[in-house]
Amino acid sequence: RSWVESKLSSELLKAVERAGYKTPSPIQMAAIPLGLQQRDVIGIAETGSGKTAAFVLPMLTYITRLPPMSEENEAEGPYAVVMAPTRELAQQIEDETVKFAHYLGIKVVSIVGGQSIEEQGFKIRQGCEVVIATPGRLIDCLERRYAVLNQCNYVVLDEADRMIDMGFEPQVVGVLDAMPSSNLKPENEDEELDEKKIYRTTYMFSATMPPAVERLARKYLRNPVVVTI
Ligand code: AMP
Repeated sequence: RSWVESKLSSELLKAVERAGYKTPSPIQMAAIPLGLQQRDVIGIAETGSGKTAAFVLPMLTYITRLPPMSEENEAEGPYAVVMAPTRELAQQIEDETVKFAHYLGIKVVSIVGGQSIEEQGFKIRQGCEVVIATPGRLIDCLERRYAVLNQCNYVVLDEADRMIDMGFEPQVVGVLDAMPSSNLKPENEDEELDEKKIYRTTYMFSATMPPAVERLARKYLRNPVVVTI
């Protein structure tokens, strides 16, 4: 197992090295190459498996391929959104993302309860590539028009089962529906993908797959690869 096999760009490999991650964990080995190909992924993995870097590294790779956030496009919102059930988890994801994003000049904003929503909306509008959020606070931000997701085509649902258990299904769905649906991959797996088009990539991590999580996956993921560690 080595990072070189993960197919990450040299830029990202350098960031991984600086973070001190000597070898990829099994979930990282399995999920990163899929994420780089913009395949949808369902990861059945627990905290401690390294699942955060497994979705953060392909997400950052995707962002490095896009034009830098600038005055021209920052009003259209972030390029990627990560949703997590609790503030604590959102904080951990932010820390893990910043560890790598910092070297790439990628800006990360977290949108969680307990802080000023006006200020959070302002931070998004000032331009950030990644938003990490709890679903309730993010939908609030969107409904008040403090932020939009007009160019968000990379989305991660972390601990999806816990988000559902906590009653966040409507908010998660609301956020997903605020992203451009024209970029969802075709439902028919046999349909050819347009190489020049950017499709939405969706990553879902869950420790279990109850019916409500299955339902979300069926509606928003296309031909997902299930990775179980
Ligand atoms: P996670 O399962 O994503 O919550 O990660 C658990 C912990 O392992 C975090 O503190 C990470 O910073 C750390 N970690 C993740 N991947 C690696 C790796 N490949 N090498 C060393 N530490 C890692």
